[in-house]
Parts: sequence; structure tokens; C-alpha cells
Amino acid sequence: MIKAQIPDIKSLLSTPKNIVIVPHRNPDGDAMGSTLGLYHYLKMYNHNVVVITPNDYPDFLKWLPGDDTVLKFESQQEESKALIDNADLLFTLDFNAFHRTGHDMAEVLEVSSATKIMIDHHQQPDDYAKYTYSDVSMSSTCEMVYNFIEMLDDTDRIDANIATCLYVGVMTDTGSFRFRSTTSRTHEVISNLIKKGADNTQIHNNTYDTNSYSRLQLLGRALQNLKVIPELRTAYITLSQAELDEFNFKKGDTEGFVNNALSLKGIIFAAIFIESKQDDIIKISLRSKGEFSVNELSRAHFHGGGHTNAAGGRSETNMTSTIDKFISILPQYKQELSQANNG
Ligand code: 5GP
Ligand code: MN
Repeated sequence: MIKAQIPDIKSLLSTPKNIVIVPHRNPDGDAMGSTLGLYHYLKMYNHNVVVITPNDYPDFLKWLPGDDTVLKFESQQEESKALIDNADLLFTLDFNAFHRTGHDMAEVLEVSSATKIMIDHHQQPDDYAKYTYSDVSMSSTCEMVYNFIEMLDDTDRIDANIATCLYVGVMTDTGSFRFRSTTSRTHEVISNLIKKGADNTQIHNNTYDTNSYSRLQLLGRALQNLKVIPELRTAYITLSQAELDEFNFKKGDTEGFVNNALSLKGIIFAAIFIESKQDDIIKISLRSKGEFSVNELSRAHFHGGGHTNAAGGRSETNMTSTIDKFISILPQYKQELSQANNG
């Protein structure tokens, strides 16, 4: 989105519209924070707004202001379809291609005649939107929603609800402000959000201090399963469906586990492989430090993508052959892995 398009968007938003806001499938903190933050903002102008997520999201995000208004496409298909078909404006947040919403929802979004606005920080965005605000250097889509409101000259309207939602996404996507994508501008945005009423301590507690006993036990198992390949500065974790069942796995329980592998001294590339019998896949999360691009590795080998230092993907073979494949492709990256610094 170029500044020149802002007057167009302002005029679009100047009269009440039917607006649908959509994040990616398996929404994370940035996806929920950005969609709900924008929801609260647009509500102030008497638009008819709804956030529709492709599917459910973890309990640790269910305290966000506005959570009770969210529709889930997977379990509320008819209502969701009707709202999408009837939308004048469709905001797609925190993803770069319709297929990231899953097959069924993507089909409905693709035929929507609504004017589309994309706000996203993932690499290689598709060009389905009339207005695209894409910036891969951004810490989070939440930081971009803040910028969007600023471009509309409207930061005065940011209230505690908007500030709280946006704070959550910046916090979760930056690993609590530690990743390289965290800039002085990110802190400036966070500073403003705190001034507008985001309660930082409460937000951290609500989001991170919600462990169940069984989740900690599952983490214990994940750490026992940790394997290290020191010469390639790589570490990985596996969790089978049987292990997930043993510890009463609930959505979101494995969030952040991969970071433990990345915290090993000298390790710059970490992966977690999680079996899903329901989807008949191995879900893969990849993380790196410095230049080594897990986005590229995932695109090349695991049907996924994301950012340079955080990407997702999947494998349609069983755990053993997925790990065999993973180990067999690593030598191709030997040079990069041994040269990369750990910034
Ligand atoms: P996670 O490992 O937490 O699922 O995902 C890490 C990052 O990569 C997130 O920003 C997520 O949105 C993105 N991501 C995960 N899976 C995919 C995928 O299949 N394609 C793309 N383009 N991005 C993904
Ligand atoms: Mn994000």
C-alpha cells in the first residue's frame, strides 16, 4: 500500500460497510491481535464488522477483548459464508495467500467480490488484494495495523481494547521483543500502546502464565526427545500422536517448544515435528538465528514458508521418513549453517 491509496481507503471507510476480517488458519497471537485490534477500531465507525477465523485457536488467546464475537469458519460455515458473500470489504491479515486459510475457506474467499485489503509481513504475498500493505521487515502484523491507523491519521482513536490486542501480537511475534525484527520503532509503537492503556504485565501473565500441569509434562517429553547435530548447528524435537495423547494435548500446548531447541548454545537452526493423526500429516515448525532462511528451506522441502527466522511446513509421510528426509537435506546447507552467525 502506498500512501497515495490512503485517501481511497479513507473514503471507503467513511460510510458504514459490511466488513469481514480474516486471519490465517491456526491463528497465533499476531493473527488474533491484529484482527481483533482492527475490529475494535472499525467498530468505532459503526461498520458492521466481524472477525472470522478459519478454525479454532489456543485458549491462551481467548481472553482478548472481543474474543466472544469471533466466528470460526470450520464450525460455523453457513453463517460465515453468508457474511463473506455479503461483505463490501474484506481485510486479510497476517497471511499472504488464500490457501493459508485452508482449502474450504479459501474457496469462499476466492469468489468473494468484496474489495480486499491485505496487511501482512510474510514473504512473497499473492496479489489478490486491491490494496496491499506488505512489509517483510515488520515485526508483526499488529505493528502494521498500528501504522495503518497512523496513516489514516487516527491514532487518537486507539483505546485500551485496540492497544491490548495490538500489544499481544507484537509481543508474541517478536518473542517478547527479542527477535531481530524488533526495532526502535517497534518499541515506540509499544510505548504508545502502553500510553493508550495496554497493561503490559497483565498481558504477559494472561498469555504466558497459563500452563496446565499436563502441558509442562509434555514439554518435559519434548525436551527428552531433543536431538542435536552439532556439526550442522541444528537441533530438533519430535512428538508423536501417542505422546500428545499421553499428555492430554490441547491446541496451543506445543507453542514455543521449538524455541528450547534454539536456545542451545551454538545452535542456529531448530525444528519441531509434531504428528497429527487427524490431518494425517507431520506439522513442522522451523526456527533459525541470523541469515539462515527457514522460509526458503520450508518452501523447497516442506510445502510451507513464513519468514527468514520462523516458518512452518508439513510432511505427508510418517515421522520416521520425515526425519530421514530432514537429515538427508541438511548437508546441502552445510556451508550456510556453519558460516551463519547467531544474530
Ligand atoms: P509456526 O511454526 O508458528 O506454525 O509458523 C511460523 C511462521 O511461519 C508464522 O509466521 C506462520 O504464519 C508462518 N507459516 C507457518 N506455516 C506456513 C506455511 O505453510 N506457509 C507460509 N507462507 N507461512 C507459514
Ligand atoms: Mn505475524
